[in-house]
Amino acid sequence: MQLKKINGHTYYIPGATNTGVYTTKNGSCLLIDSGINNTVARKIRDTLVAGNLKPKYLLTTHGHADHFGAHHLLQQFYPGLQILASPGEKPFMADSLLGLKALYGAIPFAEIKVPLLYARSVTVDADIDPGPLKLLDQRFQAVATPGHSAGHLAFLTPDGVLFSGDAVYHPAILAKYPLPFLQDVGAGLTTLASLADLEIKYLLPAHSPEVITDPGAVWAENRRRVNACLEKIATLLARPLTREELLAELARQEGIPLDMPQYFLNLACISAFISYLKDHGRLACALENGRLYFFAT
Ligand SMILES: [Zn+2]
Repeated sequence: MQLKKINGHTYYIPGATNTGVYTTKNGSCLLIDSGINNTVARKIRDTLVAGNLKPKYLLTTHGHADHFGAHHLLQQFYPGLQILASPGEKPFMADSLLGLKALYGAIPFAEIKVPLLYARSVTVDADIDPGPLKLLDQRFQAVATPGHSAGHLAFLTPDGVLFSGDAVYHPAILAKYPLPFLQDVGAGLTTLASLADLEIKYLLPAHSPEVITDPGAVWAENRRRVNACLEKIATLLARPLTREELLAELARQEGIPLDMPQYFLNLACISAFISYLKDHGRLACALENGRLYFFAT
């Protein structure tokens, strides 16, 4: 992996999860998100060593394993490295089984405990609340971006670069995963609208294959996709379906890839879309012979 410049002192290390890097003249730096596992932690260290950089802070957009799975080893490599996250995400990092329990509804069985969903727990050293954030004598901004997860934060660097974590997806990722993961659809839509008001020059979502220079088009594409999913689900529920039947039908029609972890991620996400539609009076549900059916009203 190599360090790529975005603007001014803001760089990133490209990966399956991009790692943001903000550098200073004395070689201290700040990281935003790490990655999924120890292999990624070693690659990040090698990249920082090659650039004569030493991280002082590691900011976390949210407590999903593919964003903090490399935190533990990075802290071993760099004693004193301060791990920061929002109070809402901290519990999911301190007890990494918590996210899986929420996703599955109970202690998960072995096949779901994959690196994408389950990383080594890590202690958060300090909380970050939304608002101005002074680190390395520079002014950053933490932006509340709930929807994908409740305590999700995006980080704006002094160079006008927004590291948006999973609050927004690159259109190529939306094409591959047509059901954008949201825990709270209403909050996600509000976040997309509020992000559009931010003054930014560059945007880098965590799973983006490139730096985005036209964020307006990306906010719009994300909003379009969420609304398209809402309409598609409402249409499919013209006939009563259980959540599992709805997922199977949506996956078939939209080409959603489903392996064991993706099955549970998409089932949880469909549950969020159902809650939104139901709370907006567009769906009803009924229990029949032990099955819970949802249908359009
Ligand atoms: Zn995530």
